[in-house]
Amino acid sequence: MSTNIVVLGCGLGGLSAADLLSKQLGSRATVTIVEPRAKIPLPSSLPWIVFGWREPGKIQKDLKKLTKRKNVRLVSEQVEKIDINSRSVKTQSQEFRYDKLLVSLGAELAPEEVPGLDSYSHTFYTLDGATKLRDALEDFHGGAIVVGICRTPFKCPVAPYELSLLLEEYMRRAKKKVEIQLFTPEPHPVPAAGSVISKQVERLLSSRGIKYLPKTRATKVERDRVVFEGGSALRYDLLITVPPHRSPRVVVEAGLAESSGWVPVNPQNLATKFENVYAIGDVTSIETPHGHVPYLPKAGVFALGQAEVVANNIATSITGKGQMKQWDGHGACHLQVSKSESAFLQGAFLSNPPKLEFHPASRKWYLDKVKREKNWLA
Ligand SMILES: Cc1cc2nc3c(=O)[nH]c(=O)nc-3n(C[C@H](O)[C@H](O)[C@H](O)COP(=O)(O)OP(=O)(O)OC[C@H]3O[C@@H](n4cnc5c(N)ncnc54)[C@H](O)[C@@H]3O)c2cc1C
Repeated sequence: MSTNIVVLGCGLGGLSAADLLSKQLGSRATVTIVEPRAKIPLPSSLPWIVFGWREPGKIQKDLKKLTKRKNVRLVSEQVEKIDINSRSVKTQSQEFRYDKLLVSLGAELAPEEVPGLDSYSHTFYTLDGATKLRDALEDFHGGAIVVGICRTPFKCPVAPYELSLLLEEYMRRAKKKVEIQLFTPEPHPVPAAGSVISKQVERLLSSRGIKYLPKTRATKVERDRVVFEGGSALRYDLLITVPPHRSPRVVVEAGLAESSGWVPVNPQNLATKFENVYAIGDVTSIETPHGHVPYLPKAGVFALGQAEVVANNIATSITGKGQMKQWDGHGACHLQVSKSESAFLQGAFLSNPPKLEFHPASRKWYLDKVKREKNWLA
C-alpha cells in the first residue's frame, strides 16, 4: 500500500525533502506538495538581484520538474487548515488526508507590525522587494541610507550585515556619497555565532565607515525618519529593512506552535509533539544548549540539513531499509563583503560550547558561494 506523505510549503526545506522522499520511496509513497508559488527563488542570491549581478529569472527553480515524477502531486494553493485530529489538510479547493505530514511553511514577513514600514521602506527579503530596491538604487544619488532589522528572530542572521557591506562598496564604486547606518534590536551582530565572531563583523562594518546601532528597536517609520523605542530617531533618504517575521497563521491555529509562535521540535529527528507530524526550517524553534542565543537562528542551511534527516527517516520507516539519522545542528554561511570576496562561517550550533569557525574574506569563499548557487539551481 502506498503511504500518503504531505509536504506543506515547498521553499528550501520542503523542496529538498519532497525531492528526496519521492526519489527514495518510488511507488511506495505519494508525495503531495502544497505550495502556491510555481517558482522558488534562492534567497541567498537576492542581494545579487539588488546590485544587478543576477537577473530574477536566473535564481529561480521551477517546481514543474519535480511534478514530472509519477509519485509527486503539486497542489498550487495555500494551506487553509491543518487538522491534526483527522490527519487532514484543507486548501481552497481540496481536502486530503495524510499518513505522514511535513510542515515546512517557513516564516512570513509582517511589515504591518511596524506602522509606516510598508509605505516607506524597501526590503530585499523577497524577490519583488529586491528587484524594486535595485531600481531605487539606480535612481539614488547619495545621502543617508538606513539599513534596519526590525525584530528578532529573522531569517539569515548575516544577510543585513552583508547587504550593508555590499551597499557601501556599490556606492563607492558608483561615486555616490552616502552615509550608511545599521540599526538592530540585537546586542551585537550574529549573536548565535558568539562574541568573537560578532566582533569580527563589527570590525568589518566600522572599517567600511558603517555606523552600527545595536539594541535599537524601531517603533514606527515616517516619510523621512525611523523612530525608536525611547523616542530617538534617524533621518534617512533611503530606508532598507528586514521586516518583522511571524509564523504562518495555519500553524498556530493547528496547535503546532508554542507561545513564541514557532513550532517546537525534537532537534535530532524534527518530530513535533504530534505523531507522524514533522516540522523543519524557519517555522521551527529549537532551543540551543549554550547561552549565545536561546534558539537556533533561521537559516536555509539548517532547513536543508533537517530535510535530509526527515526524508531519510520517513523513507527508512516505510521501506525498513537503511538506518535512521540524527540531525547534528551543523550550519555554514557566507558573509559576502564585496563583489568578489566573501567571508565564511561554519560550525556545530548545537554542541556546548558551539564549535564555530570564521574564515576571513577571500575570493575562494566567494567562488564557493557561486558554486553552491549553481548546484542548487541544477
Ligand atoms: C535575503 C536572504 C538571504 C539569505 N541567505 C541565506 C544564506 O546565505 N544561507 C542560509 O542558510 N540561509 C539564508 N537565508 C535564509 C533562508 O532563505 C531560509 O532560512 C530558508 O528559506 C528556510 O527554508 P524553509 O523551507 O523553512 O522556508 P521557505 O524557504 O521560506 O519556504 C516556505 C514555503 O512555504 C510556502 N508557504 C507559506 N505559507 C503557506 C501556506 N499557507 N500554504 C502553502 N504554502 C505556504 C511559501 O510560499 C514558501 O515557498 C536567506 C534569506 C534571505 C531572505
